[in-house]
Amino acid sequence: MFGNTWNGIIRSVSTVDASNQPYDVIVVGGGNAALVAAISARHHAERVLVLERAPEWIRGGNSRHTRDIRASHDGCGIYTDGIYPEAELLDDLVRVGGGRDNLDLAKLVVRESRTLFPWMTDHGVRWQQPLQGTLNLNRTNLFFLGGGKALMNTYYQTAQRMGVEVRYDACVSDLLLAENRTEGVIAEIGGQTVTLRSRAVVVASGGFEANIGWLKEYWGEAADNFVIRGTPYNDGRVLRSLLDAGAQPVGDPQGFHAVAVDGRAPQFDGGIVTRLDSVPFGIALNQQGERFYDEGEDFWPKRYAIWGGMIARQPGQIAYSIFDARMLDRFMTSLYRPFQADTIPGLATALGLDPERVLATVQTYNAHAGLESAFDPAVLDGCATTDLTPPKSHWAMPILEPPFYGYPLRPGITFTYRGLAVDELTRVQMVNGRPMENLYAAGEIMAGNVLSSGYLAGFGLTLGTVFGRIAGTEAAKHGRD
Ligand SMILES: Cc1cc2nc3c(=O)[nH]c(=O)nc-3n(C[C@H](O)[C@H](O)[C@H](O)COP(=O)(O)OP(=O)(O)OC[C@H]3O[C@@H](n4cnc5c(N)ncnc54)[C@H](O)[C@@H]3O)c2cc1C
Repeated sequence: MFGNTWNGIIRSVSTVDASNQPYDVIVVGGGNAALVAAISARHHAERVLVLERAPEWIRGGNSRHTRDIRASHDGCGIYTDGIYPEAELLDDLVRVGGGRDNLDLAKLVVRESRTLFPWMTDHGVRWQQPLQGTLNLNRTNLFFLGGGKALMNTYYQTAQRMGVEVRYDACVSDLLLAENRTEGVIAEIGGQTVTLRSRAVVVASGGFEANIGWLKEYWGEAADNFVIRGTPYNDGRVLRSLLDAGAQPVGDPQGFHAVAVDGRAPQFDGGIVTRLDSVPFGIALNQQGERFYDEGEDFWPKRYAIWGGMIARQPGQIAYSIFDARMLDRFMTSLYRPFQADTIPGLATALGLDPERVLATVQTYNAHAGLESAFDPAVLDGCATTDLTPPKSHWAMPILEPPFYGYPLRPGITFTYRGLAVDELTRVQMVNGRPMENLYAAGEIMAGNVLSSGYLAGFGLTLGTVFGRIAGTEAAKHGRD
């Protein structure tokens, strides 16, 4: 029997492994932040254990869907174009609302990001030349060879070669907390509840985006229509348990990274191939066949992450992206073929929309569309609508040439921002104003310290890698003590 005490609450658990020697560091989670923390901890501590909830074949959380990481750098040969100064990265971050709550942490990530590429290379990651796509990340982001699955496989292999222990199908349900320390974790492994003691713990178990019930607390019934782009295992169980135990929350409860995904995507784990980048190349309509936002407000990399939230606020949480034949090759299509018709009313009918309403919207838009000769998708071309509400500020080509195409769009939730407040050592902060001495957090579970509303493509991994390294290194110091 091991008592889990916090603020006078005592929870008892049956212990399978009561006599176990404490680990130096237990890492909760099996994605990027967790593996980076485990590897970093193992550089300084003997016994490091990773508890990954997923089975081995689907290990790696949302991180296995990734493709690229953003960091400040002075040039990376053939793998990026040009340089990306710290000041520019910080400016980009602040422009999307980053650092609003804690500018010091935002500056820390930016500063530390400069050492990420060499650190990743040293731990086995290999790189490839930038992918050509709608997000135009070839200067600011580095693409790893083989995508997120290769990244995670590399980190697991590196960790295991270094002697990190990994348990799969290991769901942490709670932490052992006493005053401002943790003594370890309680986990369900192989159908049994076990207590695992540790000198320090790093929680890196992601956000709560896969927990529809929790999302409903902030979004109501609308959350039933959300598509979760990543792992079904990120249900926020550990996050909830720590918040209930008095951890200081951070981040907007409704805040998340959410993009437009194909309405036909599976509810979980559809990954990158369901994302749709067609919006700037046409118009986006809601269920009533009306436009609701400027589709050409800015470059897509700076806007793609607000469209999920916007669709989440439309009736029925659905929207429709419509464009003409000239635009089909301008973006990466989703896994699914677009709906297609020779007329606008025909397309509207195929999409289940009112054909007259949609025709009227398209005709109005066309009558106010920009100058075709100005159209240039590589720049903010000023090919804008005139006297139209909402406006389309760039790339406002009329929709004229058949066949016409359309995609149904749903809010695709990538990860949530509400999480655990941390300090610069990534120690979990408590509502009583004290930090936990030996409990650290990294990755999505603490993303809200830096992100508030918007997002920069490739920055999820930046957060997890920077804070995972700090968390693992700091946690290992307790082992040494
Ligand atoms: C489709 C898609 C594409 C993306 N592309 C990019 C990209 O190219 N670049 C980028 O920077 N970001 C990208 N992101 C965001 C990125 O995936 C995340 O920001 C980042 O990978 C989060 O890392 P993490 O380790 O915090 O969480 P995750 O990688 O999600 O890991 C969380 C881990 O915790 C485990 N877990 C959950 N609950 C428990 C529990 N109770 N006990 C034990 N383990 C638990 C899960 O199984 C999982 O292994 C993408 C996300 C998606 C969904």
